[in-house]
Amino acid sequence: MTELAALKEAVEACRRCHLRDGARNVVFGEGNPHARVMLIGEGPGRQEDLQGRPFVGAAGQLLDKIIAACGWQRSEVYIANIVKCRPPNNRVPTIQEAQTCMAWLDQQIRLIAPELIIALGSTAARHLINPNFRITRSRGHWFEYKGIPVMPTFHPAALLRDPSKKRPVWEDFKQVIAFLEQDEACSR
Ligand code: SF4
Repeated sequence: MTELAALKEAVEACRRCHLRDGARNVVFGEGNPHARVMLIGEGPGRQEDLQGRPFVGAAGQLLDKIIAACGWQRSEVYIANIVKCRPPNNRVPTIQEAQTCMAWLDQQIRLIAPELIIALGSTAARHLINPNFRITRSRGHWFEYKGIPVMPTFHPAALLRDPSKKRPVWEDFKQVIAFLEQDEACSR
C-alpha cells in the first residue's frame, strides 16, 4: 500500500471534528499522486458528499472544463479541499474545523509534492495564504504555502453565479500554465 493510500484509509476513519457526524462520506481527494498541480477548494457539497469525490457537482463540471481548456486531463492533476467532510447546508467551515482537517491536507500535500497549488475561492486562500485574504482584491498573484507557490483564483461556484468572473479566472490559469512551461524549460 502506498503512503497516500494509507493516509486515505486513516482519513476515512477520522472523527476529529463534528463535520463527520452530518456527512455521508469523507471526501479524501483524487487525482495523480505525483501531480504537478494541486487544486484545493473549500469542502464537499451535496453531490460530493453523496459520491465521495471532490468537485463532481455543477461547480465541478465547470472546473472540468477549465482543466480541459488548460490542456490537462482531470486525472493528471490532484483535487482536494480544505475540509474533507461536508459542512451542514454547505456553510463555510469554521476556523477550528479547517485547522483540524488541514493536518490531513498537509500530509497529502507533502506526499503529492506538487509544483504549485491553485487555491479555489476565498476559504482556500484564507487558510493557505492569509486569514484576511480578499479574493477579489488579491487573486491572480503568486503566494506561497509551506514553500509551494500558490495561485489564488475564484471558486468555480462563484463563476456559476457571476459569469463575468470567467475571464479573470482564465487569466489566472494562464499564469499557471506559463509557470509550468517555464519550470519545464528550466529543468531541461
Ligand atoms: S472534516 Fe476532516 S477533521 Fe473533520 S472529521 Fe472529516 S476528515 Fe476528520
